[in-house]
Amino acid sequence: MSYLSIRDLDLNGKRVFIRVDFNVPLQKNDRGDMEISSDKRIKASLSTIRYALDHGAGVILASHLGRPKGKPNPEMSLKPAANRLAELLGRPVKMAPDCIGPEVEVLLPAPGEVLLLENLRFHAEEEKNDPEFARKLAALCDVYVNDAFGSAHRAHASTEGMIRFVPKAAAGLLMEQELKYLGMATTHPERPCVAILGGAKVSDKIEVIENLGKVVDRLLIGGAMAYTFLKAQGLPTGRSLVEEDKVDLAKKLLAELGAKLLLPVDHVVVSEIAAGAAYEIVEQIPEGKIGVDIGPKTIEQYAQVIAGAKTVIWNGPMGIFEKPPFDKGTVALAKAVAESGAVSVVGGGDSEKAIKAAGVTGKISHVSTGGGASLEFLAGIQLPGVAALEIH
Ligand code: AMP
Repeated sequence: MSYLSIRDLDLNGKRVFIRVDFNVPLQKNDRGDMEISSDKRIKASLSTIRYALDHGAGVILASHLGRPKGKPNPEMSLKPAANRLAELLGRPVKMAPDCIGPEVEVLLPAPGEVLLLENLRFHAEEEKNDPEFARKLAALCDVYVNDAFGSAHRAHASTEGMIRFVPKAAAGLLMEQELKYLGMATTHPERPCVAILGGAKVSDKIEVIENLGKVVDRLLIGGAMAYTFLKAQGLPTGRSLVEEDKVDLAKKLLAELGAKLLLPVDHVVVSEIAAGAAYEIVEQIPEGKIGVDIGPKTIEQYAQVIAGAKTVIWNGPMGIFEKPPFDKGTVALAKAVAESGAVSVVGGGDSEKAIKAAGVTGKISHVSTGGGASLEFLAGIQLPGVAALEIH
């Protein structure tokens, strides 16, 4: 598909509406004020905002925050994000009291100025993708830029609806980066291409397995998801997490994917799930035991496959990595991916945490900022927010 980039737009003297993802985690401080506990998402949008300012635009920023259910809620105001953004940009950021209406219109930014609109989801019309609301948002600007990849799987007014009412729409720099890496990995990867899929449930990732199964050369399965496949092979799974209603589907996938799909050959098992719990390493899961991580032989086998890869796609941990030492498999694979020298595309918050824990963040080509959106992308589903950018 083809879409414009912010770099293709003439921004000089224009008012640009940038849909950003400022859905930041907030917590109340001792004074009872809301404070941002991670500004990662704000930092991720800085290059696009700076690009627009440097090219002579007045910048209107818009985002959702939390789930205010269509009503104003001071605890979900974007005000703390405006303050943090001002610090990061080193210039003032005006905070609008709403996202549409006369109070916003009087604040519209001149070139070089930044205005952050209040939480889009204070209006129920945002999630309903209401055309009249979308039209009002569009009326605020000359050009539209979507940099909120994490919201691109939702057809909301600010991510999809308003694009029909703006003269020009383009992808921001972050969105472009996401589409470039995820697109390359899923359509024309350098081979061999290896996908690593883990996490809790097969059911969450069926479409991803089916879609990546068509593209990749090898699919390495870990996490609890593996036990549903082992059960489908008639192997014992003890008290491990198994989705009984997905065993038949796992059988079908095993038959379709054949030797492409690799399953763990050994496991770390415990009697009770707890950090630091006594564990054993087994090749067959004994009755009453719970699988919590891939074992050392599996690590070695998977690491070897990864070492030979030119492209790696990774989503989901190999075990209950939140509870050490059951993070060993996930951390070991993070290191293997980093050392492989392959183009590596990682999605999902858990895999990102594992990469941090392994200390290899800088060695990963692309860590996706969108959990749900990157999973849908990997599943081959067209994201409404991306489809809307397509040049007609
Ligand atoms: P997901 O969101 O589907 O990527 O799943 C991530 C979750 O899967 C993490 O919270 C892990 O603790 C969990 N998980 C991974 N392996 C296992 C396992 N063997 N048993 C139970 N949960 C697991």
